[in-house]
Amino acid sequence: PVIPINTPSATYNVTIAPNLLPTLHPRLRKLNPGRPFRPFIITSPNIWALWSKPFLASFKEPPTVLFHPAGERHKRMASVESLAQQLSTAGADRDALLLAFGGGVIGDITGFLAAIYMRGIRYVQIPTTLLAQVDSSIGGKTGVNLAAGKNLIGSFHHPQAVFADTDLLRTLPPAELRAGLQESIKAGVIYDARLFRYMEQNAEAILSASAPAKRNADTAALAKVVAASVRVKAEVVSQDEKESGLRMILNFGHTIGHAIEAATSYKQLLHGEAVAWGSIAALSLAVARNTIVEKDANRIVNLILRYGPLPTFKATAEELVALTARDKKNRSGIRSFVLPTAIGKVEIVHDVTEPELLAATQSML
Ligand code: NAD
Ligand code: ZN
Repeated sequence: PVIPINTPSATYNVTIAPNLLPTLHPRLRKLNPGRPFRPFIITSPNIWALWSKPFLASFKEPPTVLFHPAGERHKRMASVESLAQQLSTAGADRDALLLAFGGGVIGDITGFLAAIYMRGIRYVQIPTTLLAQVDSSIGGKTGVNLAAGKNLIGSFHHPQAVFADTDLLRTLPPAELRAGLQESIKAGVIYDARLFRYMEQNAEAILSASAPAKRNADTAALAKVVAASVRVKAEVVSQDEKESGLRMILNFGHTIGHAIEAATSYKQLLHGEAVAWGSIAALSLAVARNTIVEKDANRIVNLILRYGPLPTFKATAEELVALTARDKKNRSGIRSFVLPTAIGKVEIVHDVTEPELLAATQSML
């Protein structure tokens, strides 16, 4: 499927299909008819080792490849400067087209580099992780981390297109796949009851796509989940590009999830795993407030656990609640919470008290 994104500052398509890599070149050429075609690939050595062959299959002349090491700790200004230096040495001018080929780290850093190199050049997202395909490649948020916190420097800069080849997910470590699927569960919970039901009824087929030695696994069920999740994100960011209202619903599970990531120094849990724990805590808050009936809340928790296992971690409820007060998404010190009211529907509340939050966090631990 091809899913359009339409925001006040950009219009582009997300194309989701298996076996997309070998057809990249003509698709890229079509993006800017009449302009010079000067592609530069930005990727990690591990991803390139796995997938360079199909990537280059449709290119007559292979583009310049710039490598950026894998890992969240390399998502920082020093890497942006180094890549910019390499771009300049390789002769990249205003017509350069950056191709971000990797997970969310590569996507965020390439998008930010494209936003500031020569005051802004074009780029395309070719996401290789589930999280990047359903979430980070879409919506135009780009940036890098500071020692003081994640994504503290950045800019909105939309790609020209997103090409998500679901075959890429076959080589993804299983834990990364499961963690990414937690963001799809989130999409179902906040906006799409059909996606939620599909994930309930097809868990085995969806999860079977990735595992060591599953190079030929059938990714059809997973591709359906990717498309439905992208649709949710596309609709939400198309309606609220700069997160003044609706886009906040994408933060379901993230307030406490971010606190867990901070409490564990971003090392013990994958992002999706922390969000899964945060969703469980938010559900307990929603049940305590009677915003959702217990039966629906239990269905959600069961689905989250079905796509587990969720690794445990060490943190106290007090510590986590204190960390939520520092969340980047807070405005004027007010913590906003996204609470489900039914499967596929949420409300945003701004009046959660500290004791309520402590109780919900405690019940998760
Ligand atoms: P990641 O980019 O670190 O990738 C995870 C690991 O998988 C890496 O080691 C990577 O090299 C490897 N990998 C990637 N594709 C692979 C493949 N096909 N086969 C085998 N291995 C592969 O992590 P991620 O979860 O994709 O992204 C996380 C980042 O995304 C965070 O920095 C987060 O802040 C950011 N993010 C951004 C947005 C946004 O809107 N811009 C949204 C959500 C998350
Ligand atoms: Zn997330």
